[in-house]
Amino acid sequence: MPELPEVESIRGQLEPLIRGFRIVGANAHPSVKFSSAVDAIGHVVTGVERRGKYLLVGLDSDWDDRRELIIHLGMTGGLQVDDQPPRDPHCRARWDLDDGRHLWFRDIRRFGRVVVLNRGDHQSLPTLHAMGPEPFDPRLNPRNFYRSLTSTRQRIKTSLLSQRHVAGLGNIYTDEALWRSRINPVSRRVGPERASRLLGAIRNVLAEAISHGGTTLRDFRTPDGGQGRNQDRLDCYGRAGQPCPTCSAILARRIIDQRSTTWCPTCQIR
Ligand code: ZN
Repeated sequence: MPELPEVESIRGQLEPLIRGFRIVGANAHPSVKFSSAVDAIGHVVTGVERRGKYLLVGLDSDWDDRRELIIHLGMTGGLQVDDQPPRDPHCRARWDLDDGRHLWFRDIRRFGRVVVLNRGDHQSLPTLHAMGPEPFDPRLNPRNFYRSLTSTRQRIKTSLLSQRHVAGLGNIYTDEALWRSRINPVSRRVGPERASRLLGAIRNVLAEAISHGGTTLRDFRTPDGGQGRNQDRLDCYGRAGQPCPTCSAILARRIIDQRSTTWCPTCQIR
């Protein structure tokens, strides 16, 4: 699943390709998860922002300047901009730009979401509506991050995946950040010192992945068809059965709250 660094890579490539162009036609899969894509017709794209793992495409028109197109890539979603209209059975939404190009959303497993709504009116998207701070927001600091984590008794891995304490983490960067901060993924209480270490690790792991264009596993592609380069730099995620880069113990794997989790039994003690 694309996480913050992958979505940020896509945002950075997509914005210059579509900003300032008017959407003159659209077509969408009839599922309610995609059908409102056609409501973008007639609007000019004002920019592409990101919140957590969501893309927020600003829309402006002569009659309505308060709409936005929100795209969540789900497990397998991707966006492309092409001169030719897509001939792909997995195309779930297509927007025709006024210079003849087409933006389209491809999603094999259909866990993605495309919706046009009033700007900032996110009640229909509960995860986005309740989303915690962006990881690089300077208002997020070790103290309020710790306080936020103490509001739940969930396992730390599950807390981080909930998006409520910090936005944008999925399975890859959660496992990486917990490994780097030496916190066991099943811990239910993380003290102030470990919370501070964890926040630092989250920021470092994400910043490094962004600088490497994201991680390509299976289906992730950037709009130019390229792949990220971060997959060769993972220390923990996907390396179960291999030695820990720090202590050489064999990395363990188990399912925690339905999510496959890899950690070092020696470095990440409870
Ligand atoms: Zn280790």
